[in-house]
Amino acid sequence: VTVLRRAAIVAVGSELLTPSKLDTNSLHITEQLNRLGLDVVVKAVAGDSRDELTHLIGALLERVDLLILCGGLGPTDDDVTREAVAAALNRPLVEDEAITERLRERFKARGFATPMPETNRRQAMVPAGAVVIENTKGSAPGLWIDHHGKSVALLPGPPRELKPMLAALVEGPLRERSSGEPLVRRVVRITGRIESDVDQLLQPLYREWAAAVPAIAATILAQPSAIELHLSAHALSQDIVDRALESAVQRVVDTIGADVYSTDGRTLEQVVGDLLAANGLHVAAAESCTGGLITSRLTDVPGSSRYVDQSVITYSNDAKTELLAVPTELLNAHGAVSEPVALAMADGIRARARADIGVGVTGIAGPTGGTPEKPVGTVVVAVTAASDRRCRTFRFYGERELVKFQASQAALDMVRRMLS
Ligand code: ATP
Repeated sequence: VTVLRRAAIVAVGSELLTPSKLDTNSLHITEQLNRLGLDVVVKAVAGDSRDELTHLIGALLERVDLLILCGGLGPTDDDVTREAVAAALNRPLVEDEAITERLRERFKARGFATPMPETNRRQAMVPAGAVVIENTKGSAPGLWIDHHGKSVALLPGPPRELKPMLAALVEGPLRERSSGEPLVRRVVRITGRIESDVDQLLQPLYREWAAAVPAIAATILAQPSAIELHLSAHALSQDIVDRALESAVQRVVDTIGADVYSTDGRTLEQVVGDLLAANGLHVAAAESCTGGLITSRLTDVPGSSRYVDQSVITYSNDAKTELLAVPTELLNAHGAVSEPVALAMADGIRARARADIGVGVTGIAGPTGGTPEKPVGTVVVAVTAASDRRCRTFRFYGERELVKFQASQAALDMVRRMLS
């Protein structure tokens, strides 16, 4: 049998073309295919149009070895996947009696008084030569077709039906026809730098990796307050690819230094939590413009009670004075969004919570409240400990929600840097 290397996925269903429904099946399918060493080179979403779908299938099969379609296998007129595949492969649709029989039994077992409607027989009409993939969770059977060295799989849309059927494919025909060279990915997360800067620093590495065996592909992704570098490679053994990726990750860490905060998939809040736990320290935050987001992110991590005891949200000046003992004179002299106030907030919550590390955040999330000296997006973050006091003024971009997120990211990152 031919080894399948390049795959495409088509999610079928007009609802997937509306703003209210997202295709998530393809994410799961991609993950499974990558494990077998298949690259997904195209993903597409098609509505319930037989013609569009037939055309798309024909075009994709010129380019890939494996095509997986999901959805559109129901019994009604707008379920067109079987027909489109038959047309694209130029195979007749024939009734599979065994499927009809199973559908009838299923219908009877569900206790309906009337016999199965004839329309349900549509689900037994399959492209000639198709092999049935059993559906234990629903009525629509899946289909597998080998066609001139290429393979086509048809799976139902509901994720709970699709998943076990895909698992059966992975154990059966897909494993037989795959290279067995798993695609492994590592993600390096970086903060405090811009994308182009990271990209430029890593250019020499990209060239080396492209020429190496196994070759390592690198993709850089800019996210608010973080840059992700995705490294991936194929190899015959998991061991070889793991080792190659580990040494590539190490090269990135050597090049970028302390701005790398995660090389093993952990989020920033997990990294900070692990550092706090490892050092037996408690953190407490006094949050103004972040409205609790920093503490919310810290407590998203299971086991965070080891290092979070309390935080406060002090939005108004009065609250800052009342709960954190920030002197009114300080607020009047410098304004609430200032380094002296952020430091006083951090010290105030540290004392109040008897924590080892205090975080104070104050800023202007917008859209109003900015001034020429302190425009919207100005955020001051202070992190203090018994023998270390740090404070920085940031100028973040974007809407309110984005400013809040960037502020929480900066605060967590300053805690991380203090502990690393
Ligand atoms: P059946 O009609 O027998 O249930 P089907 O193959 O016709 O199966 P669809 O009608 O296309 O499946 O989809 C049924 C439901 O499955 C959709 O309403 C949707 O909730 C979910 N679904 C379909 N496709 C996807 C997808 N790509 N990602 C996530 N969910 C999906």
